[in-house]
Amino acid sequence: MANINKPIRMCIVCKERIYQEKLIRLQCKNGKLAYFTGIGRSFYICKNCIMKNNGKLLKPFSRFCKQDKKTVLKILSEFKENIVNG
Ligand SMILES: [Zn+2]
Repeated sequence: MANINKPIRMCIVCKERIYQEKLIRLQCKNGKLAYFTGIGRSFYICKNCIMKNNGKLLKPFSRFCKQDKKTVLKILSEFKENIVNG
């Protein structure tokens, strides 16, 4: 009986419930988007959603980061640049 205790979490963008290991765990820290460090509030996004247009990510991210939309757009593009550039 493998896999029965795998944690399932919800993507904040598409609201799909999937295995935690297939999600990216993020947090908003000091006005920036970062991988979860183990401290503070965090949220999950699936790998499909993180690649979506920033406009589609705006609403859930502004809610979770408690930032205005302009700031959210900025931190989203900064974060994605880091993903692309490694
Ligand atoms: Zn998703």
